[in-house]
Amino acid sequence: MAIYLDSAATSFPKPPQVAARMCEYLTQVGATVNRSVYGPAQEAGLVTLTLRERLCRILGYGGRPTHAILTGGNTAALNMVLQGWLKPGDHCLVSAMEHNAVMRPLIRLAEQGVTFDRIPCDGDGRMDPDDILPLLKPNTRLLVLAHGSNVSGSVQDAEAVGKICREHGIPFLLDAAQTAGHCPVDFDRFGCSALTVPGHKGLLGPGGIGGLLLAPAFAKELDPLITGGTGSASHTEIQPDFLPDKFEAGTPNLPGIYGWEAALAYLEDVTVEAVRRHDLALMTRFLSGLDGVSGVRLAGPRDPAQRVGVFSLDFWGQDNALVGDRLEQEFGILTRCGLHCAPNAHKTLGTYPQGTVRFSFGWFTTEEDVDRALEAIERITRR
Ligand code: PMP
Repeated sequence: MAIYLDSAATSFPKPPQVAARMCEYLTQVGATVNRSVYGPAQEAGLVTLTLRERLCRILGYGGRPTHAILTGGNTAALNMVLQGWLKPGDHCLVSAMEHNAVMRPLIRLAEQGVTFDRIPCDGDGRMDPDDILPLLKPNTRLLVLAHGSNVSGSVQDAEAVGKICREHGIPFLLDAAQTAGHCPVDFDRFGCSALTVPGHKGLLGPGGIGGLLLAPAFAKELDPLITGGTGSASHTEIQPDFLPDKFEAGTPNLPGIYGWEAALAYLEDVTVEAVRRHDLALMTRFLSGLDGVSGVRLAGPRDPAQRVGVFSLDFWGQDNALVGDRLEQEFGILTRCGLHCAPNAHKTLGTYPQGTVRFSFGWFTTEEDVDRALEAIERITRR
């Protein structure tokens, strides 16, 4: 059996309830939401509402579940905010560790007159929130932060960043792709204006679905990126301005909604705190095992309290892509190598252009998996 250490890309396996509920929806329910009023359609509507409620609880959002928008994924959610909010002449701040899901939309917006600056991060990928202040401009209209890096696993102090944003009246968009379901994410405490999550990583659901949580005042000002039929206000050709309909045009991903709702029910049962304890134990084991290994550099913090279980290793004098291949062929270990859609993160960490081999852990990763990875790393570095 292969050892799956690519949870930062997507979680695997999923709790069995996820596939079971998706199958149940496809074979026994079939109806869409917000359009028809017969029994199965109402059932689908209730499942959708329950999903929104679970998202709010898991992500520390005390507002109304109508403001938990369901999207086509994390990238879609980020685009909805970036493209719906920033206008020519606006300035945006991002950390030096952002994923291309933020940077590519921003580069396109830059062609239309949006400007941006990167807040520097140290060699471990961490940002000092005080470094935000000198970069603020009168036209700064958004700050975007990857809560956890998909390259180094470093977790930023979102609460401190949120506080600075609040003090300066700048909306704060948090990309919680790598932290949601792995460590506490608290919309209200962090002072977010918007928060995005994918369904398929630490939140244990299927691909093709994600969430966008919006503070009410921000939601009011945010333009929808996609408009169309909502099943509501059908007398008019104007997009409704109430939520979630303002941001949810088109028939939603109902199999995904059923699967994700089941995943979040499972996660609420397990609790994110228990996942965090599990991750911390695995991280501590991996880090102490790495201490005895030379010939490899860890990019990212050594303190488990400052990170999630995403470990980028640079194998000295070796081609990291070949190392990734050997890990699978010789040891049955599945990892990801390369630049992980975040070139500037690698520049910050000193691992550009060679990239790294990324080992990432999840709820179903065991201590034995970690030990097998450590043995393989030791064998590969010995050559
Ligand atoms: N941001 C971060 C920090 C990520 O790790 C990822 C996924 N690698 C994304 C954004 C994009 O998420 P998705 O591919 O699920 O849309």
